[in-house]
Amino acid sequence: MTRSVSIFGATGSIGQNTLDLIRRDHGGYRVEALTGGRNIAQLAADAREFGANLAVTCFDDCLPELREALAGSGIAVASGPEALIEAADRPVDWTMSAIVGAAGLAPGFHALRHGRTLALANKESLVTAGPLLMSEARAHGARILPVDSEHSAVFQALVGEDIGAVERVIVTASGGALRDWSKDQLARATVADASAHPNWDMGQRITIDSASLFNKALELIETKEFFGISPDKISAVVHPQSIVHALVGFSDGALMAHLGAPDMRHAIGYALHWPERRNLPVDRIDLAEIATLEFRKPDEDRFPALRLAREVMEIGGKAGTVFNAAKEVALDQFIAGTIGFLDMAAVVEATMDAISNEIRLSNAINSLEMVLQTDHLARVRAKELASRRQEQTA
Ligand code: NDP
Ligand code: MG
Repeated sequence: MTRSVSIFGATGSIGQNTLDLIRRDHGGYRVEALTGGRNIAQLAADAREFGANLAVTCFDDCLPELREALAGSGIAVASGPEALIEAADRPVDWTMSAIVGAAGLAPGFHALRHGRTLALANKESLVTAGPLLMSEARAHGARILPVDSEHSAVFQALVGEDIGAVERVIVTASGGALRDWSKDQLARATVADASAHPNWDMGQRITIDSASLFNKALELIETKEFFGISPDKISAVVHPQSIVHALVGFSDGALMAHLGAPDMRHAIGYALHWPERRNLPVDRIDLAEIATLEFRKPDEDRFPALRLAREVMEIGGKAGTVFNAAKEVALDQFIAGTIGFLDMAAVVEATMDAISNEIRLSNAINSLEMVLQTDHLARVRAKELASRRQEQTA
């Protein structure tokens, strides 16, 4: 049976890995919509190869280039956030949500409204609007399948288990490119330093987030929101080899671990074929060759993101929206060279403090509009705080 699919963020690292799996069984899929950003050559080439019905760039200024690249192909083209929503409203069996950042929330949210399966790589959706996204899925009978490798691992460890018997969930962290750097060294870390991941090949933003452990912080919150597990049962451990992706501990003391090569095609393929398991083109690990698996407690003094994530999980509601938005701004500023590596956590913490009163007054998230408003407010504050920090250090 041919399945229809749409891929949001098709030109990115997750999007390309998804297309790689689909390419191997081309006849099994019909591609409805592909979306991208500035990489128009890739978007157009993929739209032609997979015979997509629609290609969307999120940037209006890229539309002429996309139109020209697909002239005569019969593939419809469009641009901008509204066009992403229009693409999400097209009926398909399976949607991949792999846009980077909170920009991925609205298209994923709309895809759920049509009661389909959403493969969710965009962890920011759950951090910024977890309760809303999960209740939207329930209301429309839609299924969300996790694609983040740790959450796919937890999901797999929970098959056939009673969630009530879960005592703890441990997600592993490689520790990122700067794992063993001192605080003084971290203060001087450059974008190039933070962009070299030891084990995973990913987009630049998540790679830097791995180095600051903000990626792991997002994933702790993602665990709480997706599985509905209380924060005191969720933790992270540094595991430099990235072979164990997550562990689930049960009330009888058993600890179930998920092991696999660090290749996102495993988690993507699991979500693509679920509930079946199919042969996937990933390396099979050889335990004797790996020989040693190490685990260490994360250092929250050098990497404060995890401490902030615990605060966010305790407060709940809009705290996740503020945290994610402030993190995105801080990351933009670090990439632009206006603030240092350690300033990212400082800006996020200061933004959370600055908005804590507003949050205390009304913390429930009832609509997408409310999330977007809070996201906007947090971005404005985070930008102010980042430029104040820049002035102080100049
Ligand atoms: P990439 O940066 O490689 O790709 C991001 C995609 O989103 C590209 O298609 C990009 O277009 C598009 N895009 C960028 N900005 C916008 C925007 N404002 N609106 C709409 N589309 C946009 O990211 P990754 O593939 O690494 O990550 C995607 C998501 O998956 C993230 O949420 C990440 O946290 C998550 N994830 C990624 C993993 C990985 O291994 N890479 C692992 C686990 C989770 P273009 O490139 O054409 O400009
Ligand atoms: Mg992950």
